[in-house]
Amino acid sequence: MPLPDLPADSLASAVLSGDRLALSRAITLVESHLREHRAAAHQLIDRVLPHTGSALRIGITGSPGAGKSTFIEAFGQLLIARGHRVAVLAVDPTSSRSGGSILGDKTRMEALARHPSAFIRPSPAGTALGGVHRATRESLLLCEAAGFDRVLVETVGVGQSETAVRSMVDCFLLLQLPGAGDDLQGIKRGIIEMADLIVVTKADTRSGLEAFQRARRAQADLRLALHMFPPPESGIPVEVLLTSALEGTGMTEVADLVSSHQAQLLQSGYWQSQRRRQQLEWFEAEVLEAARLAFEARLPSALREQLRLAVAAGQLSPAAAAEELLAASR
Ligand code: GDP
Repeated sequence: MPLPDLPADSLASAVLSGDRLALSRAITLVESHLREHRAAAHQLIDRVLPHTGSALRIGITGSPGAGKSTFIEAFGQLLIARGHRVAVLAVDPTSSRSGGSILGDKTRMEALARHPSAFIRPSPAGTALGGVHRATRESLLLCEAAGFDRVLVETVGVGQSETAVRSMVDCFLLLQLPGAGDDLQGIKRGIIEMADLIVVTKADTRSGLEAFQRARRAQADLRLALHMFPPPESGIPVEVLLTSALEGTGMTEVADLVSSHQAQLLQSGYWQSQRRRQQLEWFEAEVLEAARLAFEARLPSALREQLRLAVAAGQLSPAAAAEELLAASR
């Protein structure tokens, strides 16, 4: 996607009018790290900000192969059938490392991608994780400004990206594959604690009962395991639901539960306080990132290179080298 040649103001107007091409271009702009693009991106976001905030933001995580894209394909179409406009953003912590990516290496969500009420954007490759998170937060706002009232933010269940995605969304879904027994072995404790809803995938019935029974067992194990955790801060107990994206079952229940979760959060006031807290977390993350960049720019680069060589050669400990570099920059 070429970078926009429109001034930020015209781009903002085009995004607000629901122009999809403008939305894609605006996202490309917020993904850029070039200083002049950042300035334009700030203008753009400031301009659209008053038109954001009303969408329901749903995070979706799960290990590779858990069935996320198949789920989103079916779930997204169900939301559209209920009259919503659906945007899907992906945060893929692997894309910056490998160049290729877990989320982008196959044709995903083909039917949803073709739907006029859907907008799908893969994660930006080749950026530092902090940059991906900022770009995703800003992209989310842009999608809302363009009239998408359901924004799904998908992430692979590796690394720290779930924590970042959790801090962008109102409701967080964990997709879990039914295993052959010890279902909980493979799940990171921290992820269960973040989930508002757990969805056991691949609970198929058509290919015999075995898959379904395995899913039922996983559901029972997860329900039991949830007793070991404190209840979520929102006060709403975590449900475990079964779905088969292939057979289209369980999707209605997930959509209903997500809606009722939203209604309860709004009623209790937790929704508003969570959004406020997330804004502040974003602000603090930006402060830290800006401080890091400003500080790094002050470090003497020749000395840094010398110290890198010494550390790599094993002549100096990393801690001592870091101290020396910092001392030289004071
Ligand atoms: P992701 O890596 O989490 O996005 O997982 P995918 O959506 O790509 O799914 C991984 C594999 O599981 C694919 O081969 C899917 O066809 C398959 N799959 C996804 N959902 C279901 C389901 O409900 N039932 C069955 N049997 N297979 C599924």
